Amino acid sequence: MTEQQIFERDDQNYLPVFKRYKIVLERGEGAYLYDINGKRYLDFLAGIAVNVLGHAYKPLVDAISNQAGKVIHVSNLYYTKPQADAAAKLVKLSGLDRAFFGNSGAEANEGAIKLARKFAKKISPDKTQIITAWDSFHGRTLATLTATGQPKYHKGFEPLPADFDYVHFNDADELAEKISDKTCAVMLETIQGEGGVYPPRDEYLRRVRELCDKFGALLILDEIQSGIGRSGKFFAYERYGVKPDIVTLAKGLAGGVPIGAFICTEEVAQAFHAGDHGTTFGGNPLACAAANVVLDTVPDEKFLAHVAEVGAYFKSRLIELQRKYPAQISEIRGEGLILGAQLDRPKLTGVEIVNECMRRGAIINCTVGTVLRFIPPLIITNAHVDELIAILDDVFGG
Ligand SMILES: *Cc1c(COP(=O)(O)O)cnc(C)c1O
Repeated sequence: MTEQQIFERDDQNYLPVFKRYKIVLERGEGAYLYDINGKRYLDFLAGIAVNVLGHAYKPLVDAISNQAGKVIHVSNLYYTKPQADAAAKLVKLSGLDRAFFGNSGAEANEGAIKLARKFAKKISPDKTQIITAWDSFHGRTLATLTATGQPKYHKGFEPLPADFDYVHFNDADELAEKISDKTCAVMLETIQGEGGVYPPRDEYLRRVRELCDKFGALLILDEIQSGIGRSGKFFAYERYGVKPDIVTLAKGLAGGVPIGAFICTEEVAQAFHAGDHGTTFGGNPLACAAANVVLDTVPDEKFLAHVAEVGAYFKSRLIELQRKYPAQISEIRGEGLILGAQLDRPKLTGVEIVNECMRRGAIINCTVGTVLRFIPPLIITNAHVDELIAILDDVFGG
């Protein structure tokens, strides 16, 4: 089947919710992907922060195929070792007490929201307000798209679940005005991803934590994009001296196999009783076998130091690029390997830049129309960074 035939077949049959780039990807190896014509692409998107160990990483492939040969799925009515191991690892890494597995980021956040609501009900029946940030992204289910502080994701889906409110990220004073005894939870991405790569400033998260404690509100940190080592720490919140009551993970957690998780304190966990939450697929042996490889690899000090080092090098090279093209790039933001380049009246639009990179053999992403976002596999090296910078230089200079 030719590329053209695959485009047509998909365009005719798949729900038209994605604006896809015109390539058909077939396989990958390390930091590279290949399309069906054999063309190679340097992958600085990693399936949107998913393929943290790169493509076709042998220990991950072996763990998945070994587990598939034993049993892919059993009901959560029974115990399995891969799930018990993955939960124990997440509890140890987070310093929290209990983990739950779902299948996606939205499901992880949905579970966290349900848990917070149930926990707050014990304190007061009208302690239901959930405060999130403008420009956040938390998922596509009704509750999580409502938590997402971007009106474009709400439009057409009303009525939305009640009692969500929004504040500006990095403005603790605004939160101080809005939070009250009626606040059930404050939910934030530790580093905003889809909204344009915005890390928290200075003492922001510490002040958020203090305000939550003052009003008995839970702090939910969404680390679906910023977690799993991406910031140079396993959890990005470790960078900012705070600890959440609930943290959510997904994307990179199983290196590409669908999974989501929330992890919480014992006190909060006690709000859920048998039957209050559940899932058929969540945390099945296949997904957890994959997660165990990630959880045995990424938290390693040397691995995290590598992310921090290559991230710092990449950021310095992006800053050089910005200095070379100050009329097109106004700012470089981010930590570790979640980096963004703010476009400022560039010669080409964000999408055109992405397409030009693709033509030259590199996959990058543009978010909110004006921010080039770089969330590569965590195993990239300085040489991969140099390869991408050369392509970007060519695109911006051309
Ligand atoms: C991607 C993402 C989600 C949603 O995850 P899905 O697996 O697409 O449901 C939620 N929060 C953040 C911060 C994300 O980046």
